[in-house]
Amino acid sequence: MEKMQIYKVYPAIPEPLSFLDYLARNLWWCWNHEAIELFRRINPVQWEKIGKNPVAFLSCITQRRFDDLSKDESFLGHLGRVKTKFEKMFSRVSQIKEFDLTPKDTIAYFSMEFGLHESLPFFAGGLGILAGDHLKASSTLGIPLIGIGLLFREGYFRQFIDHNGWQQETYPINDVFDLPVQKLKDHSGFEIKIDIPGPDGIINACVWQLKVGKIRLFLLDTNLPENSKNIRDITSRLYASHSEIRIAQEILLGIGGIKVLRAMDIFPNVCHMNEGHCSFAGLERISIVMDKYNVDFQVAFQICKRSCVFTTHTPVAAGHDVFVKEMVFPYIQPYARKFSVSDDELLSWGQPHTRKNTDKFSMFIFGAHFAGYINGVSRLHGRVARGMWQSLWPRRHVEEIPISHITNGVHISSYLSQHKNSLFERYLSSDWSSRQSNPNLISRIDMIEDADLWHVHELDRSSLIRRCRQSLLTQYERQNAPRHELDEVAGVLDHRVLTICFARRFATYKRASLLLKDAQRLTRLITDEDKPVQFVFAGKAHPNDDQGKAIIKRIVEFARSHNVRHRVVFLENYDINIARYMVQGCDVWLNTPRRPNEACGTSGMKASANGGLNISILDGWWCEGFRDDRGWAIGNGDIYDDHEYQDEVESQALFNILENDVIPKFYDRKRGNPPLKWIKMMKEAMKMAIKDFSSDRMVRDYCSRFYIPASINFKQLTQDSAEKAKELALAQFRLVSLWGDIRLSSPELTKEVDFTVGDTFRITLEVFLGELTPEEVVVQVYHGKVRALDEFEGARAETMWLQETIAEGRHIYACTITCSDSGRFGYTSRVIPKGDEVLSNTPGLITWVNGDD
Ligand SMILES: *Cc1c(COP(=O)(O)O)cnc(C)c1O
Repeated sequence: MEKMQIYKVYPAIPEPLSFLDYLARNLWWCWNHEAIELFRRINPVQWEKIGKNPVAFLSCITQRRFDDLSKDESFLGHLGRVKTKFEKMFSRVSQIKEFDLTPKDTIAYFSMEFGLHESLPFFAGGLGILAGDHLKASSTLGIPLIGIGLLFREGYFRQFIDHNGWQQETYPINDVFDLPVQKLKDHSGFEIKIDIPGPDGIINACVWQLKVGKIRLFLLDTNLPENSKNIRDITSRLYASHSEIRIAQEILLGIGGIKVLRAMDIFPNVCHMNEGHCSFAGLERISIVMDKYNVDFQVAFQICKRSCVFTTHTPVAAGHDVFVKEMVFPYIQPYARKFSVSDDELLSWGQPHTRKNTDKFSMFIFGAHFAGYINGVSRLHGRVARGMWQSLWPRRHVEEIPISHITNGVHISSYLSQHKNSLFERYLSSDWSSRQSNPNLISRIDMIEDADLWHVHELDRSSLIRRCRQSLLTQYERQNAPRHELDEVAGVLDHRVLTICFARRFATYKRASLLLKDAQRLTRLITDEDKPVQFVFAGKAHPNDDQGKAIIKRIVEFARSHNVRHRVVFLENYDINIARYMVQGCDVWLNTPRRPNEACGTSGMKASANGGLNISILDGWWCEGFRDDRGWAIGNGDIYDDHEYQDEVESQALFNILENDVIPKFYDRKRGNPPLKWIKMMKEAMKMAIKDFSSDRMVRDYCSRFYIPASINFKQLTQDSAEKAKELALAQFRLVSLWGDIRLSSPELTKEVDFTVGDTFRITLEVFLGELTPEEVVVQVYHGKVRALDEFEGARAETMWLQETIAEGRHIYACTITCSDSGRFGYTSRVIPKGDEVLSNTPGLITWVNGDD
């Protein structure tokens, strides 16, 4: 190719409209309907065609159109309103002032993907959307958070379906010229660049900044001329399938991300790692804290661990990144030298305690090692994760594994339809979206006129149908379908028919084809004369997942079959844009995962916010969300060994619900009036979504439970030459080195062994602590009901008191137990470290009577 000199030409936007360019470069517009409308009205056709990307959009508006608009009073008025709102957003004080996070207390939020809008395809699915929603909610709440991710040259793939019903993929190129990003610069105006030594040479990266309301998102990019092709490729595609590239991506995100902050003179109080892809951040952060506070590794570790949050999203062991250790080692080896630890010890942080000689390196284990706050993303997932990772905390009971949960939420304003938003503005308040935590405000959803709500919902359903027709037309035209087929698809779906949507990744466990288990029964429902139903399916299969693609093919073939094709659609290229149409226009949102494989799931929350009713397996969030006045549960939460049998049972249960409850309720109308019982459920679902499943609630939870305590820890541990952290490091060092000497005698009862309710008895115990002192440990009696197999059921730990010291290192502990219930009980005793949760949860530091449990 000839050598070209590239130059860029930006549109000359007339001065009265200059705010448009500013607005286009802050993602705030994408959750504000008035702002979206402002762009759209400039040229509605072009706006859709260009994929609602305002930067690209403004660069293709003619100068004449701009000149006209700059004299258009109505347009200027509209622009003025948006501008005022935008400025107000920046001037609003933090809503979490009460919790004491000042603007300087930066929280660094790391994620491999961010799903903010369809025009920024840096995400593959739920994890990315969640991260995007986290940023948006943090902006509204005024949290001092900075996002860190990667800028991929190729977006996540576009899906299209060929004439055989098989998924094909293309990878769109992200042209930074068309994205609302700018090179990140330091205080003196120099572009930020960082470098990381890697096995194939230095990895150089530049950084792009994206604004999401008040939040900044830094995106690292290795596509630089000074890099070799291999290194440039690190940021070419999300989730590269080659593990060499994948590890380099994770190194770049974690280590590079912290380096970027350092280069900007930002030293975060809190580091939040969204899934194990970011775990290397823990390593580099310790290194930086060592330098900045002039402390050794052990001390820096105490500081960093107590100010680090790690969120896991995957309830399946195979879903977590694992690398062979030889691949990781070259990148992290320099840290062993700096930290003065052995190579083996460094590697052991990413390895299970039980299998020291493994050649595997787990990004989950590595991340958990650095984090004092670990959580799953729904109540059920928290429980599953505790069971999955129990072996990382040897000799601990599963319910005491230090993994809690914060249930995911969705950014309501990004997914609520424009029509429903207008209703909310009218019935709730014009600023309802920044006051979502006010229960009185949300309860006013009950006051919305039934007819009004039904009317706007029907508009949303019609929009979905129009979108389906348009998409099918494109698909059929591409396949050179004959005229009569094109005419037919131009009229698919019916705006009065109960519309059931299913949209998600086509992983097998999600069981998209559950309804096809009984195609006859399904066909009967679809073709019913009086009370028909119609279906819209969407979703991508992973490019290497032929099983997933086969499920798509089955559904596409069913959707093309002669007797149902007017009422079943498979929508290509599921992305945020399609998702919006579907969650806004559906009557029912269907979710059929094989429990407990769905960590949380969030699309159903988006549907609920729009009044869509969920029919779902009791998995993920629906275990918390389900109530029979706002949706339906398939099955009762059983877990089966036989998948075939399970599918059979659950598909029949689903049909029963549809036939006996859902369909009759939807069509239960008096003289053409709206279905009042249905609308009642819609309102309950909407209130539920905003109250309990919004990202507003989620980020508030992260703040109060993690960010604020973590930030306080950071400040306390780093003040006074890190004195507190030094004490902790010493305490931990003593505990770890002396713990092995601890012995417990069997606890002794002071009374006979049969009691009546109300009795009390006393337990005493001799404990040998060796060189450790009673101030350094907690001795506990662990007691509760026992089941048939002599296992505890809901046992509790109670602290014993030191009764006397009988010799050097030998102590008698005692406690009194009150029998408050009848039944069969058991007790035992143990010693754990005294101190905060990080100290007392140190893996391995727990000793039971007889040395086991
Ligand atoms: C919300 C959303 C998801 C995640 O929802 P799930 O219920 O986990 O599938 C995935 N993709 C898109 C485009 C979404 O909007």
